[in-house]
Amino acid sequence: MIYYSYFYQNHNFNIELNIIFMDNSLKSIIDNQKNYFSSKKTINVESRIQSLKSLLKEIKLNEKEIEYALFSDLGKSKGESYLTEINFVYTEINIALKNIKKWAKRKPIKSTLINFPSSDYIIPEPYGITLHISPWNYPFQLSIAPLIGAIAAGNTVVLKPSEYSINTSKLLEKIISNVFDPGHVVVINGGIDVSSNLLEFKWDYIFFTGSIGVGKIIAAAAAKNLTPTTLELGGKNPCVVDETASIEVSAKRIVWGKFTNCGQTCIAPDFILVNKKIKQRFIDELKKQIVKIYGDNVVNNKEYGRIISDKHMNYLVSLLDKENILHGGKFNFNDKFFEPTLVETNDLDSKIMENEIFGPLLPIIEYDNFEEVHNVINKYSHPLALYIFTKKTEFGRKFLESYPFGGGAINDTVMHIANDRLPFGGVGQSGMGKYHGESTFKTFSHFKPYIIKPLWIDPPLRYPPFENKINFLKKILKLF
Ligand code: NAD
Repeated sequence: MIYYSYFYQNHNFNIELNIIFMDNSLKSIIDNQKNYFSSKKTINVESRIQSLKSLLKEIKLNEKEIEYALFSDLGKSKGESYLTEINFVYTEINIALKNIKKWAKRKPIKSTLINFPSSDYIIPEPYGITLHISPWNYPFQLSIAPLIGAIAAGNTVVLKPSEYSINTSKLLEKIISNVFDPGHVVVINGGIDVSSNLLEFKWDYIFFTGSIGVGKIIAAAAAKNLTPTTLELGGKNPCVVDETASIEVSAKRIVWGKFTNCGQTCIAPDFILVNKKIKQRFIDELKKQIVKIYGDNVVNNKEYGRIISDKHMNYLVSLLDKENILHGGKFNFNDKFFEPTLVETNDLDSKIMENEIFGPLLPIIEYDNFEEVHNVINKYSHPLALYIFTKKTEFGRKFLESYPFGGGAINDTVMHIANDRLPFGGVGQSGMGKYHGESTFKTFSHFKPYIIKPLWIDPPLRYPPFENKINFLKKILKLF
């Protein structure tokens, strides 16, 4: 296991020695993957199916351990872990197993007259050796879901999970090593140093999930080798509640989407824009729903998670400075508890409105007319998610269709992720590329076109001299 990061933090001499050591170890791991890929062992679709079946079996065997690791890292309850992490992965594997033969098939494509006669095809081919770097907030599913598509498409994978969700990261290492030859899939644990070292190598594809800032570092490293990259990033997700919205249902769905996993969800609503006509009733209902779902004494509620680290606790505490707290606000560093908290703000320059919150703090901003909504949304352009609660469905549809964002919903939050037929990913600042279901297979495949021309005929049209053919050629080409 390459877990050197903490080991050499304080010692310059050790740092140099270990970087050389780590580089050599990484090099041999990566060479091993290159050899594995070159051996064509990943090309056989039947063997990809067997790999995914073994992975599914191993995850099922380790289900209790996964639940325990997620509880240890993030205080996730069994129910939440199953719903948002384990079952998510089961679904992705089963979809891949059901469709992989169809996805991996060479497809005939209609030919063109200029090529007549010819047979044209597209065949998906794996990129090769792929690097995956994952975050801590859904540390199991965000590590395994991309890997499923990468394997289904015939690639090898080096997975570097987060150093913060250490229990899940260690378990991922165990699960993967029980199933795969390290030449095929391997987990390398460690911190930023390990990640940076991995980025020094030439990969055929990099799949990154994490923050916008680190996403830029990944993109810069990938650019050196022109490596194709998927960046699944974050941002501030606006959630609009208009004057016609169903107050009870809106509040309930927003409370669930915001406070699940303690607000540490990339597509959770970051802040609310509520019409001033219903603002007070809506805030009262939010408070009511928080108590209904998590009880009066949230700290004792076993279904409510915890913040990942002291560093993140400090960041969240700093966001509350000078804010008008409407509900909650209690926190406790001992067990990294942070109460579901409602904040009233109208200052877009305040710290809480600067960057992604990624925690259980929900700023509420009132608006009077839609121009104000428009200005706020444009300030946080290209979010990962955008939500609107309204009874005017057609208006809601127009609203969603008029802004660029990763994915979204009318009258719900987060749930667009629950359809594998909908591609998941950001746009602009919130990322590039997409995955889930077939999209993951496509992400990890190069769709290679080729044509087959027979030798028995060779129409002279494309060969010079064109003098006597040009009018005929124009006529024919116009037909298509
Ligand atoms: P992060 O960017 O800090 O870390 C993600 C991964 O990158 C970790 O494995 C980490 O070790 C590595 N890393 C960190 N700094 C690095 C560096 N300088 N060089 C190379 N690698 C480095 O993100 P995080 O704190 O783990 O996760 C939270 C962020 O991820 C939030 O912004 C959230 O919105 C985003 N996120 C996005 C999605 C999505 O699907 N779009 C999903 C989950 C989380």
